[in-house]
Amino acid sequence: MDYKALAELLFPNVENTTEYYEEKYKARNLPEGAKVTRFAPSPTGFVHFGSMLPVVVSERLAHQSGGVFYLRIEDTDDKRYVEGAEEDLINVYKYFGVSFDESIMAGGEYAPYRQSERKDVYSAYAKKLVAEGKAYPCFCSAEELDETRKLQEERKVVTGYWGEYVKCRDLTLEQVEENIKAGKEWVLRIKSNGNPENKIKFTDLIKGAIEITENHIDHILLKRDGMPTYHLAHGVDDHLMGTTHVVRGEEWLPSLPYHLQIFGALGFKAPKYLHISQLMKAVEVEDEEGNVKTVKKKLSKRDMGAGLSYYIEKGYTPESVMEYVLTCLNSNYEDWRRANKDAHYTEFPFSIKKMSASGTLFDLAKLNDVSKNVVSKLTADEVYDRLTVWAKEYDGEFYNLLVNDEALAKGILSIGRGGNKSRKDFGTWSEVKPFISFFYDELFVREENVPESFDKETVNGVLEAFLASFDLSDDQNTWFGKIKELGAEKGFCPDVKAYKASPEGYKGHVGDVSTFIRVAVTGRTNSPDLYAVMQLLGKERVEKRIRDYINL
Ligand code: GLU
Repeated sequence: MDYKALAELLFPNVENTTEYYEEKYKARNLPEGAKVTRFAPSPTGFVHFGSMLPVVVSERLAHQSGGVFYLRIEDTDDKRYVEGAEEDLINVYKYFGVSFDESIMAGGEYAPYRQSERKDVYSAYAKKLVAEGKAYPCFCSAEELDETRKLQEERKVVTGYWGEYVKCRDLTLEQVEENIKAGKEWVLRIKSNGNPENKIKFTDLIKGAIEITENHIDHILLKRDGMPTYHLAHGVDDHLMGTTHVVRGEEWLPSLPYHLQIFGALGFKAPKYLHISQLMKAVEVEDEEGNVKTVKKKLSKRDMGAGLSYYIEKGYTPESVMEYVLTCLNSNYEDWRRANKDAHYTEFPFSIKKMSASGTLFDLAKLNDVSKNVVSKLTADEVYDRLTVWAKEYDGEFYNLLVNDEALAKGILSIGRGGNKSRKDFGTWSEVKPFISFFYDELFVREENVPESFDKETVNGVLEAFLASFDLSDDQNTWFGKIKELGAEKGFCPDVKAYKASPEGYKGHVGDVSTFIRVAVTGRTNSPDLYAVMQLLGKERVEKRIRDYINL
């Protein structure tokens, strides 16, 4: 067979050679040890939280080593095309502060970074494979392939184009020519030389030494429309774009033998691989004997928090999500964080060696804790700025309240903030409104009442006494002194310890007195510092709320 003639026959219009592209996309000039990584998503309309793991690993490996981290859009499969998905994806990562050195937006020396715009490049490499006798056109129709598959299923053998099921591998040049003249469509297949009895050995930087069965299937390299499959496209791109480390989900591990085959056939040096375990969730299942046990399952699209957009809508700070992802990725991250409370997460020495080879358990409760911690370290001004950006998008009513009286909002957000013992009331922007709503008359509702053990007359008596003594200009000590005093007059022990030691003879203690006032003013039994709350609400509102409560 004259493979060169076959290549010309199949690709008459492909003029640029692979040498041309090797010259055009020169090897990167980077310092020794610099890693080049990529994030190569297919925009399918859903951005999984789990993608954040390879993204963070790729970003850290590249930037920690003085290398390059780039974004490549893998959109050669138009069956999976979803309108607007690419934009969504970019916006999602942007929110989390993931920055790409090269991308469809930022450009770069290896542009275009969208695979659908690189058809010519892949064609050149496909043509080369044909010219070297490593790939061939296959004219089998969808119906024929379907029949083969059914037969294979009946025979319980691996499905696909291999061994005795292969029909087009040995077509002569003349037969190919005739088929083409007859207008038959073709796909390009790799001429696989793998043997299913053999295992390939290879080392994954996370999973260690691995043995996987060689690929013996003549998989598709180019589809009928001349577009490459992901397999060929990513191989060509990872080579030309100088990727040194491929970080991706472990669901790609079974394709690896095929990928290595493509790299080998094209004479490329394969990159190093890091296959990351999938995010798991803990679910309780009942076995046949009715025993309940916890098992790990894949975090699916429908699970709460599975999509990254959830975190944007709920108003998680990007840092919280990053912190949490790092705790999932490196077992020593939390220790490092405890020892370096104020450091930025990028200062953490990320290490591949500290990554776990088994699945990480996704834990939203933990992420929420991390978030509360992160938000507690922000200043009131920072909280205000970020909260208003979030509210503008997701809660117009709240946004208006926040911006109509900026000083009040900042005052509210300042309560209990600062120092080491900052309050950890909320970790997301969507949690703020229910937490501070009682400050605003427009949102105020009475949610809780005083314990039932106190009768209305007693409570009202205390509240009347408070109103009589209330002076907004009192300092906190004077204010609290008055509460103790009026409580004592009404039969409430001014000292909680003393009360607990001998409660007889009292109606309660000073804490109960505070609860009455707190409930009257805020409608809740729990609130931030009551003195600070009153200072912000002002004399009139405090008095009105107490009067309203008395008259209830
Ligand atoms: N485009 C592939 C995906 O959708 C990327 C796989 C890889 O990183 O090699 O996940």
